[in-house]
Amino acid sequence: MPLDDLVLGLQRLVDRFVRRVRRGHAPTPDRQRLLVVQIDGLSREVLQLALARGRMPFLRRVIERAGWRLHPMFVGLPSSTPAFQMAAMYGVRPDIPGFHYHDKRQREDVYFPRAGDAARVEKAQAAGRRGILDGGASYGCVFTGGAVDNLFTFAIMKRPTGSGLLAAFSALVVLAWVALKSTVITATELLRAVLRLLADPVGEWRRGWKWLAIKIGLSVWVRELFTLAVARDLYAGTPSIYVNYLDYDVFSHAYGPRHPRALRSLRRIDDSLKQIWRVCRRVPEHRYDLYVLSDHGQAHTRLFDEVAGGRRFERVVFDDFFTPGGARPVSPARPAGRHRLASGIKALRTGRAPGYFQRFFNYIEEGFPWVLGELKEARERDNVRVICAGPNAFIYFVDDDAPLPIERIEERWPGLADELSRHPGVGYVFARSSSDGPVCFWRGKRHRLSLAEPGPFAGRADTPLVISAIRDLMTMPSAGDLVVYGIDASTGHVSYIAEAGAHAGPSPEELHTFVVAPPAARLPEPLDHPVQLYPHFARYLDGSTRESAA
Ligand SMILES: [Zn+2]
Repeated sequence: MPLDDLVLGLQRLVDRFVRRVRRGHAPTPDRQRLLVVQIDGLSREVLQLALARGRMPFLRRVIERAGWRLHPMFVGLPSSTPAFQMAAMYGVRPDIPGFHYHDKRQREDVYFPRAGDAARVEKAQAAGRRGILDGGASYGCVFTGGAVDNLFTFAIMKRPTGSGLLAAFSALVVLAWVALKSTVITATELLRAVLRLLADPVGEWRRGWKWLAIKIGLSVWVRELFTLAVARDLYAGTPSIYVNYLDYDVFSHAYGPRHPRALRSLRRIDDSLKQIWRVCRRVPEHRYDLYVLSDHGQAHTRLFDEVAGGRRFERVVFDDFFTPGGARPVSPARPAGRHRLASGIKALRTGRAPGYFQRFFNYIEEGFPWVLGELKEARERDNVRVICAGPNAFIYFVDDDAPLPIERIEERWPGLADELSRHPGVGYVFARSSSDGPVCFWRGKRHRLSLAEPGPFAGRADTPLVISAIRDLMTMPSAGDLVVYGIDASTGHVSYIAEAGAHAGPSPEELHTFVVAPPAARLPEPLDHPVQLYPHFARYLDGSTRESAA
């Protein structure tokens, strides 16, 4: 859009002026730079569908005509954003079994949208390693990857030095334009909604309002803001940039991965990709390498309550499998939680929270059912804690700090795992065994998972990968003593929270994604785990990537 260019041009002029005032230098032109665009939640299967149906014309063109390569990627378990980004940004195999889980040793829940949780996990698990975004920028991510995000750091507004104010003004030029443009698009969408309402008052009112709110909030304001912010960074020569577009994942959670509304959001992301790519071409001296990738896919799910007579999973677990009597809700005023919230707010006020906005947007995303007024899905009774995180639920025996192997669980609750796996809303139940590796309960039958005996995963093209992913998952100290999946339940895929699309599990559509990379990029092959991306991306940190792009 030419008007975008005009605004960015004005912003660049301001930037140049700011540099002169500060006597700073323009970025060095002789290094290669990293630009990662993540399309959250897009499986390879749905990507290929979107490409074939012309939903992503720009991406299709660079693949077909410019020789960009679509590299298949297997993301491992859990198929979830924080696990993926920890591995890709820091090169570590994380202890992150889900989006919401319990840490027995610390005796506390980790829930990524909550203020402070992502920061604590990042600090503990990145273990002093250099993130791929060291000195760069990240938008919409769970972790910062070491990014120093200048556009969103409030500190910049707090130090009213002359050049600081000018820099803030430069950022404001972009923000003002995003506001103006988004307001116009919002008005257009609202007008359309009114017209639709007139045409079909009852139906449109029932299904339309929530969708419209997400569409305007995420798909217009946030996407525009991210795209313009990235464009600004590209002109400025920021050494590394990671932007995560959340639109598709959110629509897919709400309506299912192949729903027309989810597919339509890909068209808008494709527009943003095109815009970003054009800016890259305009500053060839900055030598950006653009990677388009996805962190996981989604499976189409139904709600557990539907197959359990309207009862939630925790309720069924406590009433039908443990002592009858119902679950006691988690105390809402745990002092640790209140303290963490307070320190989170304090960090924001003092401008010490560069990743705050990333976490905020993630909160909107993954906390979606929760944001809309539902209780957080954790219950505890008699030292048994149940956490529902999506198509996965964890059962912890919290009187023991160490993970309990199945032999110990059977002593207390004989037949529990077999019985659970027979429930129509349960697919797999995984547990650790004290001798070797994980075991899997499937429709009432116990399988020792190995390549020789892959149990329910026999006959899949990716059997060895799935077996090793389950091993990885059950090696994580924070994974539940029992890890329950609604994926491949006898009634179809099931999620334990209210959503039509879900992920974290072992279905092919959750596990298989992609990286679209420039023709010269030498990505490791095959890509069997996101941890392999780290050395490839980390090479950009020193600006010497010739060997990777020979
Ligand atoms: Zn998601």
